[in-house]
Amino acid sequence: MPTQVRYLTPPNLDAANISKEVLCHRPARSKTPAMNALRLGNQVLVNNYGHSGFGWIMAPGATQFVLSQLQALLPLNSKQLPITIIGAGVMGLTAAYQLIQQGFKNITIVAQAADDLTSHNAVGFFSPSIELGKSWMTPDIEQIIHDSYHFYTQIITGQQPPFAATSAQLLPMYIPKQKKSAILASPHPVTPVTLDFGTGTSHEMVEQNGGIIVHVHLMMEQLRTFLTNHDVRFITETITNLDQITTPVIINCAGLGAAALMHDDGLVPMQGHLVHLTHQPATALEYLIMMDCEKALTGTGFQVKRSLYWAPRKYTAEDDTHNGILGATSIKEADKTNPHLVEFARVVERAQHFFYGK
Ligand SMILES: Cc1cc2nc3c(=O)[nH]c(=O)nc-3n(C[C@H](O)[C@H](O)[C@H](O)COP(=O)(O)OP(=O)(O)OC[C@H]3O[C@@H](n4cnc5c(N)ncnc54)[C@H](O)[C@@H]3O)c2cc1C
Repeated sequence: MPTQVRYLTPPNLDAANISKEVLCHRPARSKTPAMNALRLGNQVLVNNYGHSGFGWIMAPGATQFVLSQLQALLPLNSKQLPITIIGAGVMGLTAAYQLIQQGFKNITIVAQAADDLTSHNAVGFFSPSIELGKSWMTPDIEQIIHDSYHFYTQIITGQQPPFAATSAQLLPMYIPKQKKSAILASPHPVTPVTLDFGTGTSHEMVEQNGGIIVHVHLMMEQLRTFLTNHDVRFITETITNLDQITTPVIINCAGLGAAALMHDDGLVPMQGHLVHLTHQPATALEYLIMMDCEKALTGTGFQVKRSLYWAPRKYTAEDDTHNGILGATSIKEADKTNPHLVEFARVVERAQHFFYGK
């Protein structure tokens, strides 16, 4: 049978359409993320950090997972207990959101910063087949991914108030081939297709019909509003030692900050470069691309994995500017002191090559 052809509109990659270049760092942990609850003297410490490039994918399920461990350590009638959450990224805000859903009433979020975090900068991809490192392929993580996928599909179908149904979108996702060692978040059908961009360039890819793009800015905004409306207190402060916190429950969602706070040598930055595009044709925002392109060494000797991502982007609920996001790189152990700015041009070059054959 001949392969089905998908005629797609390519993004507009003109320099005038580039609105922003974003450098950001994933909290990458060599083993699985730290997701546990343990007694610390007369306190309970819950850890939920180190989700690398899967933070948005895992946030709802991972939070459910660690909070069920917390429940097992708490006395009955504990809903009035003061709880401190460290971190105002997706993990910290989701923890507060789920605690409120469970009836907890006395929650404070302490964070060094609350704006322009890794959580705001992520792409927001949720592929229906997720390839994780071997040490991550545990039954718990598989369940977490299923729970998260369910959560986002509920948002999309309008069944997860207070989140607007437009906070996430179900779109066809094109990948080079179905990954064999992947966790299947959804059993959506997979079809081999030829992508034709009408630019004289075409690609043999696989179409997955369950790709989700989470509009991360919108989600952060709605979480913040929900928490403020439910009397969660926000404090700007850097925690250097857990002794600074005296509440009976501490929930550590410090992302990369957990490396110093927990003396966790296995937690390192994984640098990423993303290019934001504005004023795109509406039809170029109706699909997702996700492929790995090459592994190499940067000029300064860091290992870099270069990928090509393409996805729509919404910054606010009212935003109708037709934005898109292009990316990305993964550079292990590179932090802000090694920004590898040359990678921004490389992101655009890869896209020029893929969409226009240039
Ligand atoms: C280029 C790129 C693309 C990505 N794409 C995706 C994607 O498509 N899908 C996906 O699922 N994930 C993606 N991610 C990963 C995702 O963004 C992260 O896993 C997630 O945002 C981590 O959230 P967090 O809440 O743990 O950390 P953060 O968002 O970093 O928040 C950490 C919080 O802790 C606070 N903090 C840190 N240290 C301290 C301290 N000592 N005291 C007080 N506060 C402290 C910070 O100020 C901040 O408020 C991507 C990441 C990057 C960089």
